[in-house]
Amino acid sequence: MTIQEHVSLQPYNTFGIDANARYFVEIRTEEELVALCKGDFLKDKNLLILGGGSNMLFTQDFDGIVIKNSIQGFDTKHAGETIYVTAGAGMVWHELVLKTLENGINGLENLSLIPGTVGAAPVQNIGAYGVELKDLFFELKAIEIDSGEVKTFLHEECAFDYRYSVFKGPLKGKYIISSVTLKLHTSIEVNTSYGAINSTLNEWNIANPTPKEVSDAVIHIRQSKLPDPAKVGNAGSFFKNPVITKKQYDLLKSEFETIPGYPQPNNRVKVPAAWLIDQNGWKGKTLGNIGVNPKQPLVLVNYGGGKGAELKELAYSILDSVKERFGIELEPEVNII
Ligand SMILES: Cc1cc2nc3c(=O)[nH]c(=O)nc-3n(C[C@H](O)[C@H](O)[C@H](O)COP(=O)(O)OP(=O)(O)OC[C@H]3O[C@@H](n4cnc5c(N)ncnc54)[C@H](O)[C@@H]3O)c2cc1C
Repeated sequence: MTIQEHVSLQPYNTFGIDANARYFVEIRTEEELVALCKGDFLKDKNLLILGGGSNMLFTQDFDGIVIKNSIQGFDTKHAGETIYVTAGAGMVWHELVLKTLENGINGLENLSLIPGTVGAAPVQNIGAYGVELKDLFFELKAIEIDSGEVKTFLHEECAFDYRYSVFKGPLKGKYIISSVTLKLHTSIEVNTSYGAINSTLNEWNIANPTPKEVSDAVIHIRQSKLPDPAKVGNAGSFFKNPVITKKQYDLLKSEFETIPGYPQPNNRVKVPAAWLIDQNGWKGKTLGNIGVNPKQPLVLVNYGGGKGAELKELAYSILDSVKERFGIELEPEVNII
């Protein structure tokens, strides 16, 4: 474990923003992480835990220590049709998805090709195509930064919700996740409830898809809809889809007839943020080196050389315009640093 100084974070964030970290350390084992937390170096320093940097926007240099989690590992425990898969927090999420599928272990297919690491997946309870991490989560191990103690968090202790967990709330910045255990299975039941998966499989003339075929369909859809961060800097959806009361939704519906809404528990309705942004004419807008993706207006992009502060300003202009027209306050999903 080597602590480096003045390190460019450009290769470590999918927006491709050029910001510097005062200190930077890459951690490859749980033991290294425990030693770092038990030692004195972290004391009185700002900390930032970094996985793949695919949900972060750096708006300035980071005057503290960036801890890049690169802990690997893959282990399985069989219990009949149930398979408990434990992966190191630094493993690339999509590699885990592919590795499980290659080994006849199913459940992660709908979450294919989500960028980032295993350790970040529970932090915002990643989700896509009708499945969320919480549906497959069993437990995780994390190191308490202040004490260096290793703690196991069970499902009910993580307070999972839509793009939320306790690690984004009261425990933010207090623990570093070192491994995650998922409860997967060998049965070949698949979830094709999401319309786009069904139509892709239909186009491919697949009536009874295997989990691998569902994964292929998801990869195909994602590649056709979302910009590849290796080519155009982005962090996926910049905003969460707002959840409003049914009363507020009905009022909006009387004014904006085509506003889409998806019923949620407790008399609430989820409204696609992309629709709200699109209605205000942001789709495809370019401002110098940055802009709004022409296919998916939820995705802000850095065409090269864009600054984090400019992207933040664009995000807040979008947020203000949506608030003014619809009275809905969008919440950024991306961590703005
Ligand atoms: C093209 C694209 C598409 C995307 N599509 C989706 C999608 O469909 N669904 C979805 O949910 N997300 C999506 N995202 C967002 C992103 O992939 C996820 O949020 C992912 O989990 C981030 O992983 P990361 O390792 O890059 O995390 P980072 O961006 O490095 O970190 C994200 C947060 O987690 C914290 N963190 C990271 N690792 C740890 C750890 N080991 N312990 C404690 N805290 C940690 C960080 O401090 C930060 O607060 C997309 C992003 C992109 C670029």
